Amino acid sequence: GVCVDRSLDLPVSLLGILKAGCASLPLDPRMPQRLLAQMIEETRVGFIVAHPELVQQFPAHGARLISPVGSGAEDPGDAPRLPACRADQPAYVLYTSGSTGKPKGVEVCHRSVVNLLTSVRRRPGLSPDDVLLAITPIVFDISVLELFAPLTVGGCVVVAPAAMTVDAPALAKALEDHRISVLQATPATWRLLIAGGWQGRREMRALCGGERLSLDLARKLRSRAAGLWNLYGPTETTVYSTMEEILSDEGPITIGRPIANTYIYLLDEALAPVPVGTPAEIYIAGDGLAAGYFGRPDLTAERFLPDPFRSGGRMYRTGDLARYLPDGRIEHLGRLDQQVKIRGFRIEPGEIEFALNAHSAVRGSLVEALEHTPDDVRLVAYVVCEPETDETRLVPELRRHVADRVPAYMVPAEFRLLARFPLTLNGKIDLEVLRTSSRSAAIATSK
Ligand code: AMP
Repeated sequence: GVCVDRSLDLPVSLLGILKAGCASLPLDPRMPQRLLAQMIEETRVGFIVAHPELVQQFPAHGARLISPVGSGAEDPGDAPRLPACRADQPAYVLYTSGSTGKPKGVEVCHRSVVNLLTSVRRRPGLSPDDVLLAITPIVFDISVLELFAPLTVGGCVVVAPAAMTVDAPALAKALEDHRISVLQATPATWRLLIAGGWQGRREMRALCGGERLSLDLARKLRSRAAGLWNLYGPTETTVYSTMEEILSDEGPITIGRPIANTYIYLLDEALAPVPVGTPAEIYIAGDGLAAGYFGRPDLTAERFLPDPFRSGGRMYRTGDLARYLPDGRIEHLGRLDQQVKIRGFRIEPGEIEFALNAHSAVRGSLVEALEHTPDDVRLVAYVVCEPETDETRLVPELRRHVADRVPAYMVPAEFRLLARFPLTLNGKIDLEVLRTSSRSAAIATSK
């Protein structure tokens, strides 16, 4: 386990864990106790490298705490001799939202991390002169690129303190102060910077990943940076699987082509390749594939399938919809399931519904993300409960109930109570009616 402040101790802790032949499990003290308990228990964490003040509120656990402070060897000669790591040894476990109510730990091995870092060194390309500002919390896998890729070429990593990562003027100032040459961020963070008045930095390349890059944002970034890259990939295939340098203001924005040792298949329901231009699901194969979901062979078998094109290989079923352009680039078209991204956070509404349904006053629920503007996407929970329910009492109670079970970014901004779901003629939930109906209207029509 790792639970340290964003400081020099962070890369030191992560590198120390890897060097000892262990895998890291990032633990965020702001997570609900029961989630932390699930993660620590499921992965059988033996040690937690932690700043002690951060783990005071942790649920009871049997792990030993190791302080990162002063534990580094002063002289490279002091470094203990440790057994070399194997490529199939786990490097980290990262938890992502789970549609059936329980988050799942993605187990990624050294081979996949080495493949990503080696590939990124060539494209977009990193050199010893590069200085990268690392802003991503380590519970997200794109932090792996930030913290490790520059170090592998002798470049420099500047670790941004947590407060800076949400403060546009401070971030803009840090880009100048540290002569940053590469910044990786999600579209939400890029928009935050631009909304804060950032005029750009001509000596810096902009890497955008984790979520769809809109043409509008791409244009703004191209006029402010030395170059712009769109990077795509799920946690399950190790940070990024495809990338594209955005060279024009005209679009379409694509996710480009696969990185090294990576295969992208666009397959129909029978797992047959589709022609160019036909939308189909993205399957990913190659060295980036995670070992699977930690301790969840059922779920692993569901998403990691035998690769029909490479004997003995596996492929990951992403749930992303895309099509090939005639030149071989891939255009991402959205999701085939309910998964959403809000400010870069990957969210399965099913996990929130599961938490809501565990409350005794709830008879059913549906959660969706409503986009008011790209910067204002809110989770709305429609909750079916007894018609005479006291809304002023139940809504705060539901909010607390959900906050105890899911991370803060998954707690719905809005709760709309209903006596029953409005249905279409064929018996499905009528989303149009649901969205427009307020609590009183919904209860009145259903009575
Ligand atoms: P995560 O596991 O948090 O990295 O989320 C992975 C999912 O985010 C992908 O399956 C996509 O749905 C979405 N995603 C990530 N990067 C991009 C991108 N560049 N363009 C469009 N969608 C993206």
